[in-house]
Amino acid sequence: MNLRAARGTRDVMPPEVDRWQRVESLARQIFALYGMQEIRTPIFEDSKVFEKGTGEQSEIVQKEMYRFTDLGGHDLTLRPEGTPPVVRAYLEHRLAEGKDVTKLYYIGPMFRYERPQKGRYRQFHQIGAEAFGSEDPAVDAEVIEMAMFWLKELGVESPTLLINSVGDQDDRPSYMEKLVAAQRTYLSDLSEDSRRRHEINPLRVFDSKDPRDHAVIEKLPTIIDHLSSSNRDHLDRVCGYLSDWGVKFRLEPHLVRGLDYYRRTVFEITSPALGAQDALLGGGRYDGLVQQMGGKVDAPAVGFASGLERIVLAMPDESLAPPVDCFVVTIDDSVRAAGLNLMWRLRHSGIRTTAEYQGRSLKAQMKVANRSAAPTVVIVGPDEVASGTFTIKRMSDGQQVSSGADSLAEDIRTLLASEG
Ligand code: AMP
Repeated sequence: MNLRAARGTRDVMPPEVDRWQRVESLARQIFALYGMQEIRTPIFEDSKVFEKGTGEQSEIVQKEMYRFTDLGGHDLTLRPEGTPPVVRAYLEHRLAEGKDVTKLYYIGPMFRYERPQKGRYRQFHQIGAEAFGSEDPAVDAEVIEMAMFWLKELGVESPTLLINSVGDQDDRPSYMEKLVAAQRTYLSDLSEDSRRRHEINPLRVFDSKDPRDHAVIEKLPTIIDHLSSSNRDHLDRVCGYLSDWGVKFRLEPHLVRGLDYYRRTVFEITSPALGAQDALLGGGRYDGLVQQMGGKVDAPAVGFASGLERIVLAMPDESLAPPVDCFVVTIDDSVRAAGLNLMWRLRHSGIRTTAEYQGRSLKAQMKVANRSAAPTVVIVGPDEVASGTFTIKRMSDGQQVSSGADSLAEDIRTLLASEG
Protein backbone atom coordinates (compact mmCIF):
# COMPACT_ATOMS: atom_id res chain seq x y z
CA MET A 1 0.00 0.00 0.00
CA ASN A 2 1.28 3.42 -0.96
CA LEU A 3 0.08 6.00 1.54
CA ARG A 4 0.26 9.57 0.30
CA ALA A 5 -0.89 13.00 1.43
CA ALA A 6 -4.52 13.54 0.39
CA ARG A 7 -5.11 15.32 -2.94
CA GLY A 8 -4.79 19.08 -2.55
CA THR A 9 -2.75 18.82 0.67
CA ARG A 10 1.00 18.87 1.08
CA ASP A 11 3.68 18.38 3.68
CA VAL A 12 5.82 21.40 4.43
CA MET A 13 9.24 19.86 4.85
CA PRO A 14 12.49 21.28 6.19
CA PRO A 15 14.13 23.48 5.03
CA GLU A 16 11.03 25.04 3.38
CA VAL A 17 9.45 25.20 6.81
CA ASP A 18 12.10 27.79 7.81
CA ARG A 19 10.57 30.16 5.29
CA TRP A 20 7.11 29.58 6.74
CA GLN A 21 8.42 30.37 10.20
CA ARG A 22 9.98 33.57 8.89
CA VAL A 23 6.67 34.65 7.31
CA GLU A 24 4.83 33.89 10.55
CA SER A 25 7.31 35.51 12.91
CA LEU A 26 7.58 38.66 10.80
CA ALA A 27 3.77 38.87 10.73
CA ARG A 28 3.69 38.68 14.52
CA GLN A 29 6.38 41.35 14.87
CA ILE A 30 4.97 43.76 12.32
CA PHE A 31 1.28 43.35 13.17
CA ALA A 32 2.12 44.07 16.83
CA LEU A 33 3.48 47.46 15.72
CA TYR A 34 -0.09 48.32 14.68
CA GLY A 35 -1.67 47.21 17.97
CA MET A 36 -2.88 43.88 16.56
CA GLN A 37 -3.32 40.88 18.88
CA GLU A 38 -3.48 37.22 17.92
CA ILE A 39 -6.69 35.22 18.12
CA ARG A 40 -6.91 31.42 17.73
CA THR A 41 -10.33 30.11 16.82
CA PRO A 42 -11.25 26.42 16.38
CA ILE A 43 -10.52 24.64 13.10
CA PHE A 44 -14.16 23.54 12.82
CA GLU A 45 -17.28 25.53 13.51
CA ASP A 46 -21.02 25.08 13.40
CA SER A 47 -21.81 25.22 9.67
CA LYS A 48 -24.15 28.17 10.32
CA VAL A 49 -21.11 30.36 11.02
CA PHE A 50 -20.20 30.13 7.33
CA GLU A 51 -23.76 30.09 6.00
CA LYS A 52 -24.39 33.36 7.76
CA GLY A 53 -20.89 34.79 7.45
CA THR A 54 -19.50 33.72 4.09
CA GLY A 55 -23.05 33.69 2.71
CA GLU A 56 -25.37 30.88 1.71
CA GLN A 57 -25.19 31.82 -1.97
CA SER A 58 -21.40 32.11 -2.06
CA GLU A 59 -19.34 29.69 -4.09
CA ILE A 60 -17.52 28.59 -0.94
CA VAL A 61 -20.67 27.55 0.92
CA GLN A 62 -22.34 26.10 -2.17
CA LYS A 63 -19.48 24.05 -3.51
CA GLU A 64 -16.29 24.08 -1.48
CA MET A 65 -16.93 23.28 2.16
CA TYR A 66 -15.60 20.29 4.05
CA ARG A 67 -18.90 19.82 5.81
CA PHE A 68 -19.71 16.81 7.94
CA THR A 69 -22.00 15.52 10.63
CA ASP A 70 -20.17 14.35 13.74
CA LEU A 71 -21.11 11.36 15.86
CA GLY A 72 -23.42 13.55 17.93
CA GLY A 73 -25.32 14.67 14.83
CA HIS A 74 -23.89 18.21 14.76
CA ASP A 75 -23.53 19.93 11.40
CA LEU A 76 -19.91 21.10 11.34
CA THR A 77 -17.53 22.58 8.78
CA LEU A 78 -13.73 22.81 8.60
CA ARG A 79 -13.20 26.53 8.30
CA PRO A 80 -12.86 27.68 4.68
CA GLU A 81 -11.91 31.21 5.70
CA GLY A 82 -10.97 33.11 8.84
CA THR A 83 -13.27 36.10 8.99
CA PRO A 84 -16.60 34.46 10.01
CA PRO A 85 -15.02 32.57 12.97
CA VAL A 86 -13.33 35.78 14.14
CA VAL A 87 -16.63 37.67 13.92
CA ARG A 88 -18.35 34.83 15.78
CA ALA A 89 -15.71 35.03 18.54
CA TYR A 90 -15.89 38.84 18.59
CA LEU A 91 -19.62 38.58 19.30
CA GLU A 92 -19.40 35.59 21.65
CA HIS A 93 -16.85 37.38 23.83
CA ARG A 94 -18.84 40.63 23.71
CA LEU A 95 -16.01 42.70 22.33
CA ALA A 96 -18.50 44.79 20.37
CA GLU A 97 -19.95 46.20 23.56
CA GLY A 98 -16.77 48.02 24.53
CA LYS A 99 -17.07 50.17 21.40
CA ASP A 100 -13.29 50.36 21.21
CA VAL A 101 -11.49 49.47 18.04
CA THR A 102 -10.47 45.80 18.27
CA LYS A 103 -7.59 44.60 16.11
CA LEU A 104 -7.08 40.87 15.75
CA TYR A 105 -4.94 38.65 13.56
CA TYR A 106 -4.91 34.89 12.97
CA ILE A 107 -2.58 32.30 11.49
CA GLY A 108 -3.76 28.83 10.53
CA PRO A 109 -5.06 26.25 8.06
CA MET A 110 -8.18 26.73 5.93
CA PHE A 111 -10.03 24.10 3.88
CA ARG A 112 -11.75 24.43 0.53
CA TYR A 113 -12.72 21.70 -1.89
CA GLU A 114 -11.19 23.39 -4.93
CA ARG A 115 -9.47 21.99 -8.00
CA PRO A 116 -5.82 21.76 -6.93
CA GLN A 117 -3.09 23.42 -8.99
CA LYS A 118 0.13 25.33 -8.29
CA GLY A 119 -0.65 27.81 -5.52
CA ARG A 120 -4.13 26.37 -4.96
CA TYR A 121 -4.71 23.66 -2.40
CA ARG A 122 -7.54 22.06 -0.47
CA GLN A 123 -5.78 22.64 2.82
CA PHE A 124 -3.95 25.95 2.68
CA HIS A 125 -2.83 28.44 5.28
CA GLN A 126 -3.83 32.01 5.82
CA ILE A 127 -2.52 34.87 7.86
CA GLY A 128 -5.29 37.40 8.25
CA ALA A 129 -5.99 40.59 10.15
CA GLU A 130 -9.25 42.28 11.11
CA ALA A 131 -9.95 45.69 12.66
CA PHE A 132 -13.44 46.11 14.15
CA GLY A 133 -15.27 49.18 15.36
CA SER A 134 -14.48 52.06 13.03
CA GLU A 135 -15.46 53.34 9.60
CA ASP A 136 -12.51 55.69 9.51
CA PRO A 137 -10.71 55.37 6.16
CA ALA A 138 -7.49 55.61 8.19
CA VAL A 139 -8.18 52.07 9.43
CA ASP A 140 -8.58 50.76 5.88
CA ALA A 141 -5.34 52.47 4.88
CA GLU A 142 -3.56 51.23 8.00
CA VAL A 143 -4.49 47.61 7.41
CA ILE A 144 -3.41 47.84 3.75
CA GLU A 145 -0.15 49.60 4.58
CA MET A 146 0.60 46.99 7.25
CA ALA A 147 0.23 44.21 4.67
CA MET A 148 2.51 46.00 2.22
CA PHE A 149 5.11 46.67 4.94
CA TRP A 150 5.12 42.99 5.88
CA LEU A 151 5.49 41.77 2.27
CA LYS A 152 8.28 44.26 1.66
CA GLU A 153 10.19 43.10 4.74
CA LEU A 154 9.81 39.50 3.52
CA GLY A 155 11.43 40.48 0.23
CA VAL A 156 8.38 39.40 -1.82
CA GLU A 157 8.96 40.22 -5.49
CA SER A 158 7.13 43.36 -6.75
CA PRO A 159 3.90 43.19 -4.76
CA THR A 160 1.25 45.09 -6.75
CA LEU A 161 -1.57 46.69 -4.79
CA LEU A 162 -4.95 47.03 -6.49
CA ILE A 163 -7.77 49.01 -4.86
CA ASN A 164 -11.42 49.60 -5.64
CA SER A 165 -14.65 50.44 -3.89
CA VAL A 166 -17.71 48.22 -4.28
CA GLY A 167 -20.02 50.78 -2.69
CA ASP A 168 -22.68 49.94 -0.12
CA GLN A 169 -26.46 49.87 0.31
CA ASP A 170 -26.70 53.53 -0.78
CA ASP A 171 -25.22 53.20 -4.24
CA ARG A 172 -24.95 49.51 -5.01
CA PRO A 173 -28.64 48.71 -5.75
CA SER A 174 -28.98 51.36 -8.45
CA TYR A 175 -25.59 50.43 -9.91
CA MET A 176 -26.54 46.75 -9.94
CA GLU A 177 -29.61 47.55 -12.01
CA LYS A 178 -27.42 49.28 -14.59
CA LEU A 179 -24.89 46.44 -14.52
CA VAL A 180 -27.49 43.70 -14.97
CA ALA A 181 -29.12 45.62 -17.83
CA ALA A 182 -25.76 46.08 -19.55
CA GLN A 183 -24.85 42.41 -19.09
CA ARG A 184 -28.17 41.40 -20.58
CA THR A 185 -27.35 43.25 -23.82
CA TYR A 186 -24.12 41.26 -24.21
CA LEU A 187 -25.38 37.97 -22.84
CA SER A 188 -24.73 35.91 -25.96
CA ASP A 189 -21.08 37.08 -26.02
CA LEU A 190 -20.41 35.92 -22.44
CA SER A 191 -18.96 32.55 -21.48
CA GLU A 192 -21.29 30.00 -19.98
CA ASP A 193 -19.69 30.51 -16.59
CA SER A 194 -20.25 34.26 -16.75
CA ARG A 195 -23.86 33.80 -17.85
CA ARG A 196 -24.34 31.77 -14.69
CA ARG A 197 -22.64 34.47 -12.64
CA HIS A 198 -24.89 37.04 -14.27
CA GLU A 199 -27.86 35.14 -12.82
CA ILE A 200 -26.46 34.51 -9.34
CA ASN A 201 -24.00 37.32 -8.64
CA PRO A 202 -23.53 39.74 -11.55
CA LEU A 203 -20.55 41.50 -9.94
CA ARG A 204 -18.52 38.30 -10.19
CA VAL A 205 -18.54 38.52 -13.99
CA PHE A 206 -15.65 40.97 -13.50
CA ASP A 207 -13.65 38.11 -11.93
CA SER A 208 -13.76 36.02 -15.09
CA LYS A 209 -10.41 34.93 -16.46
CA ASP A 210 -12.06 33.64 -19.66
CA PRO A 211 -10.72 35.67 -22.63
CA ARG A 212 -14.18 35.58 -24.27
CA ASP A 213 -15.52 37.74 -21.45
CA HIS A 214 -12.84 40.41 -21.56
CA ALA A 215 -14.27 42.43 -24.44
CA VAL A 216 -17.65 42.52 -22.69
CA ILE A 217 -16.14 43.42 -19.32
CA GLU A 218 -14.47 46.47 -20.90
CA LYS A 219 -17.90 47.73 -21.95
CA LEU A 220 -19.71 47.20 -18.64
CA PRO A 221 -20.35 50.13 -16.28
CA THR A 222 -18.04 50.08 -13.26
CA ILE A 223 -19.12 50.77 -9.71
CA ILE A 224 -16.33 53.26 -9.11
CA ASP A 225 -18.12 55.61 -11.56
CA HIS A 226 -21.39 55.19 -9.68
CA LEU A 227 -20.34 55.71 -6.05
CA SER A 228 -22.30 58.00 -3.73
CA SER A 229 -20.38 61.13 -2.81
CA SER A 230 -19.68 59.87 0.72
CA ASN A 231 -18.38 56.53 -0.56
CA ARG A 232 -16.26 58.28 -3.17
CA ASP A 233 -14.90 60.50 -0.42
CA HIS A 234 -14.13 57.43 1.72
CA LEU A 235 -12.17 55.86 -1.13
CA ASP A 236 -10.31 59.11 -1.85
CA ARG A 237 -9.30 59.38 1.78
CA VAL A 238 -8.03 55.78 1.90
CA CYS A 239 -5.94 56.53 -1.21
CA GLY A 240 -4.79 59.84 0.28
CA TYR A 241 -3.39 58.19 3.41
CA LEU A 242 -1.67 55.51 1.36
CA SER A 243 -0.01 58.17 -0.77
CA ASP A 244 1.08 60.05 2.38
CA TRP A 245 2.73 56.85 3.63
CA GLY A 246 4.50 56.15 0.38
CA VAL A 247 2.42 53.12 -0.61
CA LYS A 248 2.09 52.67 -4.37
CA PHE A 249 -1.26 51.39 -5.62
CA ARG A 250 -3.41 51.19 -8.70
CA LEU A 251 -7.15 51.89 -8.76
CA GLU A 252 -8.68 48.85 -10.44
CA PRO A 253 -12.36 49.42 -11.31
CA HIS A 254 -12.86 45.73 -12.16
CA LEU A 255 -11.70 44.41 -8.79
CA VAL A 256 -14.73 42.94 -6.98
CA ARG A 257 -13.37 40.10 -4.79
CA GLY A 258 -15.07 36.73 -4.44
CA LEU A 259 -16.82 37.08 -1.11
CA ASP A 260 -20.19 38.72 -0.87
CA TYR A 261 -19.80 40.62 2.37
CA TYR A 262 -17.52 43.41 1.18
CA ARG A 263 -18.68 47.03 1.35
CA ARG A 264 -16.76 50.05 0.07
CA THR A 265 -12.99 49.37 0.11
CA VAL A 266 -11.74 46.19 -1.54
CA PHE A 267 -8.10 45.44 -2.32
CA GLU A 268 -5.83 42.73 -3.56
CA ILE A 269 -2.06 42.32 -3.67
CA THR A 270 -0.62 40.26 -6.51
CA SER A 271 2.89 39.22 -7.44
CA PRO A 272 4.32 38.52 -10.91
CA ALA A 273 6.43 35.78 -9.25
CA LEU A 274 3.29 33.61 -9.12
CA GLY A 275 1.57 31.93 -12.05
CA ALA A 276 -2.15 31.93 -12.77
CA GLN A 277 -2.95 32.06 -9.05
CA ASP A 278 -1.22 35.39 -8.54
CA ALA A 279 -3.15 36.82 -5.57
CA LEU A 280 -1.03 36.91 -2.43
CA LEU A 281 -3.64 38.56 -0.34
CA GLY A 282 -7.08 40.07 -0.54
CA GLY A 283 -9.44 41.95 1.68
CA GLY A 284 -11.71 44.84 2.22
CA ARG A 285 -14.25 46.51 4.41
CA TYR A 286 -17.15 44.41 5.65
CA ASP A 287 -19.49 46.77 7.49
CA GLY A 288 -22.73 44.90 8.10
CA LEU A 289 -21.26 41.44 8.63
CA VAL A 290 -21.20 41.70 12.43
CA GLN A 291 -24.94 42.44 12.43
CA GLN A 292 -25.61 39.80 9.80
CA MET A 293 -23.96 37.27 12.13
CA GLY A 294 -26.16 38.22 15.06
CA GLY A 295 -24.69 41.43 16.49
CA LYS A 296 -27.32 43.64 18.13
CA VAL A 297 -25.63 46.66 16.66
CA ASP A 298 -23.26 46.67 13.78
CA ALA A 299 -19.53 47.11 14.13
CA PRO A 300 -17.92 48.31 10.92
CA ALA A 301 -14.79 46.35 10.11
CA VAL A 302 -11.99 45.96 7.63
CA GLY A 303 -9.46 43.18 7.12
CA PHE A 304 -7.53 40.91 4.81
CA ALA A 305 -6.43 37.31 4.40
CA SER A 306 -3.18 36.25 2.79
CA GLY A 307 -2.14 32.86 1.46
CA LEU A 308 1.00 31.57 3.18
CA GLU A 309 1.82 29.04 0.44
CA ARG A 310 1.79 31.81 -2.15
CA ILE A 311 3.85 34.23 -0.07
CA VAL A 312 6.49 31.54 0.40
CA LEU A 313 6.47 30.92 -3.39
CA ALA A 314 6.99 34.63 -4.05
CA MET A 315 9.86 35.03 -1.59
CA PRO A 316 13.44 35.20 -2.85
CA ASP A 317 15.62 32.09 -2.62
CA GLU A 318 17.92 33.43 0.05
CA SER A 319 20.44 31.05 1.55
CA LEU A 320 18.89 29.30 4.47
CA ALA A 321 20.46 29.15 7.91
CA PRO A 322 21.94 25.72 8.72
CA PRO A 323 19.75 23.63 11.02
CA VAL A 324 22.46 23.40 13.73
CA ASP A 325 25.48 25.43 14.85
CA CYS A 326 27.75 22.61 15.94
CA PHE A 327 28.32 18.89 15.40
CA VAL A 328 30.08 16.91 18.12
CA VAL A 329 32.25 14.04 16.94
CA THR A 330 33.62 11.40 19.34
CA ILE A 331 36.80 9.47 18.61
CA ASP A 332 35.73 6.22 20.27
CA ASP A 333 33.26 4.69 22.67
CA SER A 334 35.34 5.52 25.77
CA VAL A 335 34.53 9.22 25.32
CA ARG A 336 30.93 8.81 24.14
CA ALA A 337 29.45 9.86 27.49
CA ALA A 338 31.81 12.86 27.70
CA GLY A 339 30.73 13.88 24.19
CA LEU A 340 27.05 13.64 25.09
CA ASN A 341 27.71 15.71 28.20
CA LEU A 342 29.42 18.37 26.16
CA MET A 343 26.41 18.51 23.83
CA TRP A 344 24.08 18.91 26.76
CA ARG A 345 26.16 21.85 28.04
CA LEU A 346 26.33 23.49 24.64
CA ARG A 347 22.56 23.28 24.15
CA HIS A 348 21.95 24.84 27.52
CA SER A 349 24.28 27.68 26.50
CA GLY A 350 22.21 28.33 23.40
CA ILE A 351 24.27 26.47 20.80
CA ARG A 352 22.17 24.29 18.49
CA THR A 353 24.06 21.01 18.60
CA THR A 354 23.73 17.50 17.24
CA ALA A 355 25.84 14.34 16.73
CA GLU A 356 25.86 10.97 15.00
CA TYR A 357 23.88 8.28 16.78
CA GLN A 358 24.70 5.04 15.00
CA GLY A 359 28.07 4.24 16.56
CA ARG A 360 29.99 4.93 13.34
CA SER A 361 33.75 5.44 12.95
CA LEU A 362 35.36 8.86 13.29
CA LYS A 363 35.65 9.17 9.51
CA ALA A 364 32.01 8.25 9.00
CA GLN A 365 30.98 10.73 11.71
CA MET A 366 32.87 13.49 9.88
CA LYS A 367 30.93 12.66 6.73
CA VAL A 368 27.63 12.92 8.58
CA ALA A 369 28.81 16.24 10.07
CA ASN A 370 29.53 17.51 6.55
CA ARG A 371 26.13 16.41 5.30
CA SER A 372 24.43 18.13 8.23
CA ALA A 373 25.87 21.47 7.07
CA ALA A 374 26.84 22.28 10.67
CA PRO A 375 29.22 25.24 10.43
CA THR A 376 31.43 23.99 13.30
CA VAL A 377 32.63 20.62 14.54
CA VAL A 378 34.04 19.80 17.99
CA ILE A 379 36.16 16.65 18.25
CA VAL A 380 36.09 14.79 21.56
CA GLY A 381 38.84 12.25 22.24
CA PRO A 382 40.54 10.84 25.35
CA ASP A 383 43.21 13.63 25.27
CA GLU A 384 40.59 16.35 25.07
CA VAL A 385 38.60 14.86 27.93
CA ALA A 386 41.76 14.49 30.09
CA SER A 387 42.95 18.05 29.43
CA GLY A 388 39.52 19.69 29.33
CA THR A 389 40.56 21.51 26.15
CA PHE A 390 38.68 20.98 22.90
CA THR A 391 39.26 21.97 19.31
CA ILE A 392 36.53 23.76 17.39
CA LYS A 393 36.86 23.46 13.64
CA ARG A 394 35.13 25.97 11.37
CA MET A 395 34.00 23.96 8.37
CA SER A 396 33.93 26.78 5.81
CA ASP A 397 37.70 27.40 5.93
CA GLY A 398 39.11 24.75 8.27
CA GLN A 399 40.21 27.31 10.89
CA GLN A 400 40.68 25.71 14.32
CA VAL A 401 40.41 27.24 17.79
CA SER A 402 41.24 25.63 21.14
CA SER A 403 38.78 26.18 23.90
CA GLY A 404 38.10 25.06 27.50
CA ALA A 405 34.79 23.34 28.25
CA ASP A 406 33.48 26.46 30.01
CA SER A 407 34.24 28.83 27.16
CA LEU A 408 33.30 26.48 24.32
CA ALA A 409 29.87 27.98 23.65
CA GLU A 410 31.22 31.52 23.64
CA ASP A 411 34.10 30.58 21.34
CA ILE A 412 31.75 28.84 18.89
CA ARG A 413 29.62 31.97 18.81
CA THR A 414 32.67 34.17 18.15
CA LEU A 415 33.90 31.84 15.42
CA LEU A 416 30.48 31.88 13.73
CA ALA A 417 30.15 35.65 14.02
CA SER A 418 33.57 36.26 12.46
CA GLU A 419 32.80 34.04 9.47
CA GLY A 420 33.46 35.94 6.21
P1 AMP B 1 -9.87 34.68 0.05
O1 AMP B 1 -10.10 34.17 1.45
O2 AMP B 1 -10.53 33.82 -0.99
O3 AMP B 1 -10.14 36.14 -0.09
O4 AMP B 1 -8.32 34.48 -0.25
C1 AMP B 1 -7.31 35.24 0.37
C2 AMP B 1 -5.97 34.69 -0.03
O5 AMP B 1 -5.85 33.33 0.41
C3 AMP B 1 -5.75 34.60 -1.54
O6 AMP B 1 -5.26 35.82 -2.04
C4 AMP B 1 -4.73 33.49 -1.64
O7 AMP B 1 -3.42 33.99 -1.41
C5 AMP B 1 -5.10 32.57 -0.52
N1 AMP B 1 -5.93 31.43 -0.98
C6 AMP B 1 -7.26 31.37 -1.16
N2 AMP B 1 -7.66 30.16 -1.56
C7 AMP B 1 -6.54 29.40 -1.63
C8 AMP B 1 -6.26 28.03 -1.98
N3 AMP B 1 -7.24 27.18 -2.31
N4 AMP B 1 -4.97 27.61 -1.95
C9 AMP B 1 -3.98 28.46 -1.60
N5 AMP B 1 -4.18 29.74 -1.25
C10 AMP B 1 -5.42 30.21 -1.27
